[in-house]
Amino acid sequence: MSTYVYLNGDWIAPEHAKVSVFDRGFLFADGIYEVVPVYQGRPFLAEHHLARLDRSLAALAIPNHGDPFWYGLIEQLLARNAISDGLIYFQVTRGAETQRSHLPLGTLTPTVFASVSPLAVHWGVPTPAKVTLCEDIRWLRCDIKSISLLGNIMLKQHAQAQGAMEPLLFRGDHITEGASSNYFAVKDGALYTAPTDHLILPGITRMWVIELARQLGLPVYEQPFRVSELTQLDELFLTSSSREVQPIGQIDDIMIGQGQCGKITEQLVQAFHESKRKHCSS
Ligand code: PMP
Repeated sequence: MSTYVYLNGDWIAPEHAKVSVFDRGFLFADGIYEVVPVYQGRPFLAEHHLARLDRSLAALAIPNHGDPFWYGLIEQLLARNAISDGLIYFQVTRGAETQRSHLPLGTLTPTVFASVSPLAVHWGVPTPAKVTLCEDIRWLRCDIKSISLLGNIMLKQHAQAQGAMEPLLFRGDHITEGASSNYFAVKDGALYTAPTDHLILPGITRMWVIELARQLGLPVYEQPFRVSELTQLDELFLTSSSREVQPIGQIDDIMIGQGQCGKITEQLVQAFHESKRKHCSS
């Protein structure tokens, strides 16, 4: 929980951060967000997160304040909240008007909100988790990091009811991603993950894990794994900024590698930790 949050130029206590009921974020979920991990006071892969923030804003034709503004906010958030490891949250909505109208009535000033929450950084191999297979009921612009997350929330509620950490989503015969993560399937020593089209959020952790895998000489295919092949995969893991590399040991009733973390997954967990270490000491 932040001690101070940023809202439209002010630094205030979270309980005093208020926006208009006519804010288009509140009325229409007309906005985007971004989450940047921070290790030892330094934002990790920040340039990639800010590039995605820029793409999300451009897709909605909402003006961007620019990278120096966001880097300044990161510095201030960490200093004012005395946090060294955490997750920075940025949200930008199109702004507020004086009445509700699907199309904005005039040129608006975007609403900018930022907060930070502490993150307990882990350095071990996470315990393999369970996922549940679910039809991807979300819209067709999953590449935009929209604050409209109703589909994701419903899918996560379903997964929780099944005792699963995350829903593993499919469209037709293709696995797309998790509700707040990307996936990698391992088969015969190669990695498979869905391509970065409009059906997935192009995860920054996904991008980084592809880079680490290539450095390790592991083949990576950006092509979706098929639902019909799920019983044949050797390993499966999820990636996200908050979970980094999360091994999966079970898809509904299908056990993967007897529920243990696979060798390639473990190699990538270690490579990820190593890259964090380098980031902290560089
Ligand atoms: N897909 C979805 C739908 C997500 O919400 C997230 C997390 N924001 C991801 C993938 C993973 O993205 P990242 O690695 O940038 O955290």
